[in-house]
Amino acid sequence: MAVSGIGKYDPENIFAKILRGEIPCKKVFENDYVLAFHDIAPKAPVHVLVIPKGPYVSFADFTQRASDKEIVGFNKAVGDVARMFRLDEPGYRMIGNVGQDSGQEVPHFHVHILGGRPLGPMLA
Ligand code: C5P
Repeated sequence: MAVSGIGKYDPENIFAKILRGEIPCKKVFENDYVLAFHDIAPKAPVHVLVIPKGPYVSFADFTQRASDKEIVGFNKAVGDVARMFRLDEPGYRMIGNVGQDSGQEVPHFHVHILGGRPLGPMLA
């Protein structure tokens, strides 16, 4: 079920549990600001989720409450993860679902990185 992108942060959401090590993930990258791991139900040969370590519900929440350091660190990490998978060429897609209309399911901000095959038009 889709969640609100501006609601109160739920510390029991599944990505919070992954951050606390209570649930496993296939980690690909970690630093002070972010964790990146393979999506459990990949929609492309590369499908990695990048999440901030701080408690943010969505991009809408992140860009209101996170520090500049967290925001810069997060963006840098997304680029670094894409490069780890050699996606700069031929390219990749980044998706961030925010709230009900987007179908956001997990109420902890995350960016999907998808690549490794031609992805087709986004709004088909
Ligand atoms: O953007 P949205 O919230 O819809 O995406 C959540 C993503 O989290 C899904 O792609 C789902 O496969 C993934 N997921 C995961 N590991 C979990 C639970 C969900 O990778 N334990």
